[in-house]
This record gives sequence, structure tokens and C-alpha cells, in this order.
Amino acid sequence: MTDINLGTANIQCPHCGSTQFVQQETAGPEDVKQSGAVCAGCGKHLSPAELDIEVDKIGKALQQAVADALRKALK
Ligand SMILES: [Zn+2]
Repeated sequence: MTDINLGTANIQCPHCGSTQFVQQETAGPEDVKQSGAVCAGCGKHLSPAELDIEVDKIGKALQQAVADALRKALK
């Protein structure tokens, strides 16, 4: 039996690579969908559409990581 460690998937700032995002004080999940989030590293504001793109990248990267891990485990 092989342990497959895929690590933790975080949204990354496309500008500086930071995974820390600042939300407005009053922001809840619904507000983030509307107003996006601000990178804690470089202050870049990511619109909801840009956040969606990053989330999509994580999904694809995760699928790739699972496929790679399975391929290695099956060797
Ligand atoms: Zn940044």
C-alpha cells in the first residue's frame, strides 16, 4: 500500500505567488464572489473572474497530481 500525498491546494496570486489573501473586514463567502479578494503579498486585487481562473488551475493541477501519483503507484 502506497501513501499518496498531494499536499495542500491553495489559490496562488498570479503576480507574486502568495497564497495569502485579504478579504474585506465585512466580507463573507458571498461577498468574495462579488468583490474578489486582495493579495496579502503584493496588494493585487483579484476579481471574482480571476479567482475562478485560479481555482480552475488548482482543479487541473490536482487532477494531474492524482494521475501522476496513480501512475507511479501502479508501476
Ligand atoms: Zn500577489
